[in-house]
Amino acid sequence: PVTHEDILHWLQQSAQVLHEYSAFLTQLDSAIGDADHGINMDRGFTAVNAKLTGLSDADIGTMLKTVGTTLVSTVGGASGPLYGTAFLRAGMVSSGKQSLETSDLITLFDAALEGVKVRGKAQAGEKTMLDALIPAIEAGKQAAANQLSIAQVLQNMTAAAEAGMKNTIEMVATKGRASYLGERSVGHQDPGATSCWLILQAFSDTMT
Ligand code: ADP
Ligand code: MG
Ligand code: MG
Repeated sequence: PVTHEDILHWLQQSAQVLHEYSAFLTQLDSAIGDADHGINMDRGFTAVNAKLTGLSDADIGTMLKTVGTTLVSTVGGASGPLYGTAFLRAGMVSSGKQSLETSDLITLFDAALEGVKVRGKAQAGEKTMLDALIPAIEAGKQAAANQLSIAQVLQNMTAAAEAGMKNTIEMVATKGRASYLGERSVGHQDPGATSCWLILQAFSDTMT
């Protein structure tokens, strides 16, 4: 199972990777947005990282809800409320849990996805973080149905998120700032799909 410790490591690893990739994410956002996605994610997860020491005794639900509220309150722009809602919803369905089995993990991701959809009113194919998250969850469900280990489930999710992220290059943005560019958004990889892949990869790395 995924333990409380694993979740702590995942969040620390996410903060580190988002810090390392901050310039890259901002560069992607400079092409089709306002050049702040890396700054936003780095700020948010730096704040999350600072809260982790106070969460060493918390259950997984409380941890994830704290991540959500921290992101909502520290990240401006579209991504703060969207990722914030994702973690809040993930936390709500993990209330009181000290560890997660594969089925809990799928429930958690489904809840996060639902939160992003409700909050952002976007769907697949609009060149957003959903284009990494949706295929990742589909791959996760497939892997779970095939009785793969949690590490393998997360590896498959990460691979699907990466493929989905690359597919955003050819998409026309119809949500968020990139939608102002219309057809001119084609040829550029979506920053939010990229951060979503990085966060999933951090989870996979933690469990491998
Ligand atoms: P802002 O666009 O406000 O500057 P960020 O640059 O931090 O915020 O985040 C931009 C990312 O947010 C986009 O690359 C996209 O993936 C995601 N995004 C924007 N709008 C939506 C939406 N309605 N639903 C899902 N994701 C969205
Ligand atoms: Mg931006
Ligand atoms: Mg902005």
